[in-house]
Amino acid sequence: MTLLKSLPSIDKLLQTELLAALIGRVGHESVKLEARAQLNSLRGLIAAEDAEAMAWLGAEDFLGQFCAAIEDAVDVEFSSSLIPVFNLTGTVVHTNLGRASLPLEAVNAMITAATNATNLEYDLATGKRGDRDSHLEQALCAITGAEAATVVNNNAAAVLLVLNTLARGKEVIISRGELVEIGGAFRIPDVMESASCTLKEVGTTNRTHLKDYEAAIGTDTALLMKVHTSNYEIRGFTKSVAEADLSQLAKQKGIPFVSDLGSGSLIDLRPYNLPHEPTVKETLDTGADLVTFSGDKLLGGPQAGIIVGKRELVERLKHNPLKRALRVDKITLAALLAVINLYKDPRRLSTRLPLLADLSRSLDDIEVVAAKLLAPVQAALAGRATVEVQACKSQIGSGALPLDLMESRALCFAPIAAKGETDQAVQQLSASFRALPKPVIGRINDGRLLLDLRCLRDVDGFIQQLAQL
Ligand SMILES: *Cc1c(COP(=O)(O)O)cnc(C)c1O
Repeated sequence: MTLLKSLPSIDKLLQTELLAALIGRVGHESVKLEARAQLNSLRGLIAAEDAEAMAWLGAEDFLGQFCAAIEDAVDVEFSSSLIPVFNLTGTVVHTNLGRASLPLEAVNAMITAATNATNLEYDLATGKRGDRDSHLEQALCAITGAEAATVVNNNAAAVLLVLNTLARGKEVIISRGELVEIGGAFRIPDVMESASCTLKEVGTTNRTHLKDYEAAIGTDTALLMKVHTSNYEIRGFTKSVAEADLSQLAKQKGIPFVSDLGSGSLIDLRPYNLPHEPTVKETLDTGADLVTFSGDKLLGGPQAGIIVGKRELVERLKHNPLKRALRVDKITLAALLAVINLYKDPRRLSTRLPLLADLSRSLDDIEVVAAKLLAPVQAALAGRATVEVQACKSQIGSGALPLDLMESRALCFAPIAAKGETDQAVQQLSASFRALPKPVIGRINDGRLLLDLRCLRDVDGFIQQLAQL
């Protein structure tokens, strides 16, 4: 009983200097709630004569320790679960790791848009209501050669909006080889269903001919669609129909031809030593009436879905009530515009756009990182794993040619474990890296943990936290 009486009161606790800084940071209310919860639980333990709790209460620096416990608990409550990680998976555009990192220009534009009222949908010349697409449309049209453009939440939304606007209650013809699933929830057949249109598959998995499309077009056909087979490639005895032929067929039949490019690069990537991806402009030039693509894949911007093409079709998209549900906010628009503006200077693009900097990073540069890391990493893991630098291949990821891999270097960790326990040991090693303050995400291959160094920029930050492994 006397012990219980020696517990400080809430008021006394909150007045101590020990909690002043915490209260300054997060406010009185949260600290009071946590202090009360901790006091209550301690009272319960003491009433139950818990030996450890009683000894703690008698300790000389009890008050200091108790306040530290409150501070820790409040800090956990206020910390975000969304934290930065090191993407050393070797997949540069990694959907689960948030895809592209934004350039500073975009971040600054986002701050300005976020912290001010803006003319988002306000025409400053007339003082009347404006169009939120107007801010981006000109820049997108200039770089792609399109007549018109609009932007929605992501490319899945772009495809949904196009299908629902142009083909609701009607048929959409698509090659069986293109009925793709892109990571989790985006499956073309499911999107068709959500958009209330009927999917009409033509051809076979590996071969589709122009005559297959021709034969399938009927009075109920609303459009022809081509989907970039983002995350796989069918090789061998294959045939697909060129976009130019499809667009010509669509024109003959008086229906639109839509191409879902997925990644959709705005520029030719070959000058950056990357494989050629069809650009949005090339796709429009071959006759596509609408092209859809992501803002945060090869483009290197924020999450968004971009639709460019014929003005008459884009106008119809804008008038669909779904557009309102799928539209982007001012912060995304500001970031996207800043990124697209960087494309106006292609020569400096690979230094200013983080995604392109990573994709086009030279092997020499990656080797410098590897050489700097090897010794500290070996020291940190002495006795636990052997570490060496190994040649590896990075991939672009998220829908750019999966088979075109880029030469890179990885730290390769072989756990020191008894035979038969290697798998478990490598899993444990991988978990230790993930448990670091800035988690390190690698990939496991053949009983080894590989950390692909292509996307590692903060080498010192990486080394500093090794001691906590
Ligand atoms: C990635 C991709 C999508 C989905 O785009 P999100 O921006 O992730 O919504 C749709 N179609 C293709 C071909 C893709 O590669």
